[in-house]
Amino acid sequence: MSPFEQLVTAVPDFPRPGVLFRDVSPLLADAEGFARCIDALAEPWQGHGVQAVCGIESRGFIFGAALALKLGAGFVPIRKAGKLPPPVLGTDYQLEYGSDRLEVGSKALCAGERTLIIDDVLATGGTLAAARELVAQLGGELIGAAVVIELAALHGRDRWLGGTPLHALLRY
Ligand code: IMP
Repeated sequence: MSPFEQLVTAVPDFPRPGVLFRDVSPLLADAEGFARCIDALAEPWQGHGVQAVCGIESRGFIFGAALALKLGAGFVPIRKAGKLPPPVLGTDYQLEYGSDRLEVGSKALCAGERTLIIDDVLATGGTLAAARELVAQLGGELIGAAVVIELAALHGRDRWLGGTPLHALLRY
């Protein structure tokens, strides 16, 4: 068993009946577990010259900021619609029910900046695909993506196109 697995709890029927929610709060609260998690998230990207880490609101901010420090990179927040001051770039994406929108500051990356995307959970893959679209709009050079948890049964990885690596610490 991965050392992180016992620090992630499974909450049935949240946020809706029938959904098994993976909660990383115990992992964040465990000083050693959190530190080792950031080390493990950073490991595949060491030496790849990552210059910017784009974290997706909201748990992607927590992991992303720590990862950026570890990699010696800057941190760029990708936020839900209406949270960032203008000017912003945005992209709409589909959820299981309905749609949502992610935004990023329109000058948040320099052209060609070597960029890593991070989120806590990969489910259907729509969120990560939208973040990748924003990095492309900004002209960043996408190096890859990292998630703490991949919900493999939802096949989100199939939507991670373009050949850059997608690393997951835990798979369910
Ligand atoms: P996707 O777009 O379907 O891949 O969903 C990924 C987004 O939904 C991420 O930003 C996650 O934070 C959130 N998410 C989906 N399932 C879970 C879960 O079981 N636990 C925590 N977050 C989740």
